[in-house]
Amino acid sequence: MIIVLKPQATEQDANVLLNQIEQCGLKPLYMPGVERIVLGALGDERVLQQCHFEANPLVEEVKPILTKYKRVSRDVQPHDSVVHIGNVPVGGQHFVVMAGPCSVESESQLLSVAERVKTHGARVLRGGAFKPRTSPYDFQGMGVEGLKLLKQASELTGMPTVSEVMEISQVDTVCEYIDCLQIGARNMQNYGLLKAVGETGKPVLLKRGLSATIEECLLAAEYIVDAGNPNVILCERGIRTYETATRNTLDLNAVALMKQRSHLPVLVDPSHGTGVRELVTPLSRAAAAVGADGIIVESHLNPSEALSDGHQALTGDMFAQLMQELTPFVQAAGRKL
Ligand code: PEP
Ligand code: MN
Repeated sequence: MIIVLKPQATEQDANVLLNQIEQCGLKPLYMPGVERIVLGALGDERVLQQCHFEANPLVEEVKPILTKYKRVSRDVQPHDSVVHIGNVPVGGQHFVVMAGPCSVESESQLLSVAERVKTHGARVLRGGAFKPRTSPYDFQGMGVEGLKLLKQASELTGMPTVSEVMEISQVDTVCEYIDCLQIGARNMQNYGLLKAVGETGKPVLLKRGLSATIEECLLAAEYIVDAGNPNVILCERGIRTYETATRNTLDLNAVALMKQRSHLPVLVDPSHGTGVRELVTPLSRAAAAVGADGIIVESHLNPSEALSDGHQALTGDMFAQLMQELTPFVQAAGRKL
């Protein structure tokens, strides 16, 4: 429920109401705006109806939040959230490009690709150290050594980093070395993990599950925000469909809809979304056009030797080409690279 206060209501008045909300057993939210204060009361709908906040003379309007997710909804916050990964803002006016290898494989592999993508305009370095692989016989990632290399690459290039955390037991270690925690598609509904990253203050890149609905994805984000961490970035990375010509089907509907329904930044991952390196640039242009807040792409200077996802990795030249072709689309969408 959203409680809009009258323009003359002060912060003190709001505090009295926030206490009442808490006493009803509901979660209070304080949202001061330019013209007036807005409060939120989250919890059991039946309790909400018995509270009669509309009877308070300082209350102008009481509106239900019609969506199941509350805190990530635009109903609660009409303006775009901007989440900072290190010194890089994600959301609002900005269109951010995150790039790097699927997996961190060695110091030379990571540093060379990091320098290259940085030169051409990437702002955030990606790289997996803990890898969720479909087969237990495939490369599982370098683990903590990979995190250390990411930190080193970050110090050398000045780019903040994003890397996946797969288990609750890894959260503290990943936080020590990495600027943004990635929740992979396979873990989007791992609610214990969502709560654990919600208890850190770190930005979280939440990837949509392979077969998750948009609502389920927004509810997963709600878990993180509800646990105390508002710094969530959503990511559409393709879903399972009957189509076999591409690895996944990149659902750009979801990007437009999530931007309408939620104030959180939304990224697109055209690398996993298509699984085909030649399709990464066209789908990146589409991402900018549809209103995404950025892209996250995989790049490797020697894709034929990559230990994971080489088929979808952009070479150094292809990454440079991507940035060139993307720029006019980002400008047309009214964003800054
Ligand atoms: C990745 O980013 O390398 C990855 C494993 O992504 P997803 O969870 O979207 O498959
Ligand atoms: Mn990958």
